[in-house]
Amino acid sequence: MLDQVAIDALRGLPVADQGHFIDGATVPSESGASLEVLSPIDGRPFTRIASGSAVDAGRAVASARDAFEDGRWSRTAPAHRKKVLLKLADLIERDALALTVLGVRDNGTEITMALKAEALSAAATFRYYAEAIDKVYGKIAPTAENVLGLIHRAPVGVVGAIVPWNFPLMIGAWKIAPALAMGNSIVLKPAETASLSLLRLAEIATEAGVPDGVFNVVTGPGAVVGEALALSMDVDILVFTGSGATGRRLLEYSARSNLKRCYLELGGKSPNIVFADAPDLAKAAKVSAAGIFRNSGQVCVAGSRLLVQEDVHDAFVSAICKEAEALKVGDPLDLASQIGAVHSLPQLEADLKFVGLAEAEGAERRTGGDRILTETGGYYMAPTVMTGVKPTDTIARQEVFGPVLAVTAFKDEADAVRIANSTDYGLAAGVWTSDLGRAHRMIAGVRSGVIHVNTYGGSDLTVPLGGMKQSGNGHDKSLHALDKYVDLKTAWIQL
Ligand code: ADP
Repeated sequence: MLDQVAIDALRGLPVADQGHFIDGATVPSESGASLEVLSPIDGRPFTRIASGSAVDAGRAVASARDAFEDGRWSRTAPAHRKKVLLKLADLIERDALALTVLGVRDNGTEITMALKAEALSAAATFRYYAEAIDKVYGKIAPTAENVLGLIHRAPVGVVGAIVPWNFPLMIGAWKIAPALAMGNSIVLKPAETASLSLLRLAEIATEAGVPDGVFNVVTGPGAVVGEALALSMDVDILVFTGSGATGRRLLEYSARSNLKRCYLELGGKSPNIVFADAPDLAKAAKVSAAGIFRNSGQVCVAGSRLLVQEDVHDAFVSAICKEAEALKVGDPLDLASQIGAVHSLPQLEADLKFVGLAEAEGAERRTGGDRILTETGGYYMAPTVMTGVKPTDTIARQEVFGPVLAVTAFKDEADAVRIANSTDYGLAAGVWTSDLGRAHRMIAGVRSGVIHVNTYGGSDLTVPLGGMKQSGNGHDKSLHALDKYVDLKTAWIQL
């Protein structure tokens, strides 16, 4: 499906300055302020986005509230919402390449991954929740004969969604699709550095038949627009993916305003555990390398801690270093690149700082660790493997969100579980073993929202994704995600 000529035809297209998308129309910020958008591919500016204020956020919330209260979407027949969201999925597929190239120019993900993980994944997500709309029912309670107890699933109202820059369309769709499916209205706040594809998605949603005011996008600084949404008395729930620090703030804003429920997905420091009895160590090395280095490690479930059993440690480290060195890093819009750009200069600088800190704490840099391709002006980093990392080291405890793998050796199962659980996070994990009993013991023992066995990553929409511990609460994906976007409402009817 991907062809270089088609990509090249799109890569240089001028992108007009962007406004917010409020009440079905593109509008500038009330203050007229805007932010420059730099492409991580070459470090050059290529458009501007509106820099929103609390006033802009308030306008979007008011528009979403009006739309919700008058029922133009919330009270339409489920079959109608299903038809519109199925059309939206078709339109995303129609525009998949253009959306993906625009997104890659904004955030730097290699296009081989971005097409699948962004536009096509978003289309699949809208289709999944569209199909669910007329198949999820309320319940009738088992009451005495003279009473009828009805348990309705009512939309919550106005959903505030704050999303990050690593997979804006995929993560955005995980929140927008189930929220719209259940009849809610939305105000979405994309990351400042990855707003373009989501603004385009809002226009496509209008084309598909989502009524004006139901899906609004306000761009700009998180500390301004995001804070205004989180403090709003008229936003009923907040769904968020991003850093733990912001997640904590959102809980405070909720406490200071209307006690809105906050669902937080806060990243991880996920252990990928390789036992000596792994069925295929060569495959484990290849998949584990992809599991940390794709999208330059900017993946919330990235297997950023590699725990290797002592007996195979040295051989496995050599294998994974070879895999890391073989990965071609480069222009994310070049089909030959397996790894694209780090999304911003501050992120790249933070990644490099973590490498230096790890060395200062006694770890050994086995490969990578440097900025590369500086002549392009873009932000590229070589896949990096650090060995001899102690579970107490900074690099073993803090999320780098870059192409940096921290390797630690372990003795036995108990040791592996202890090290795996020794961070504040609990988002994802991996286990490589031929022993089914051991696999189940690890599934039970490792505290993470998802655990991969003899693979890493790649789950689909049928299963939930959410964190344990300080990786957050609530779930994206699967029918479980629908629960976030409804209130249970009981009707107790005396007959
Ligand atoms: P990351 O480290 O992944 O960039 P952030 O938590 O900083 O994570 O950003 C995730 C999203 O949260 C972005 O859309 C960002 O603009 C938004 N954000 C950042 N700070 C705040 C804040 N104080 N209040 C609300 N949203 C914020």
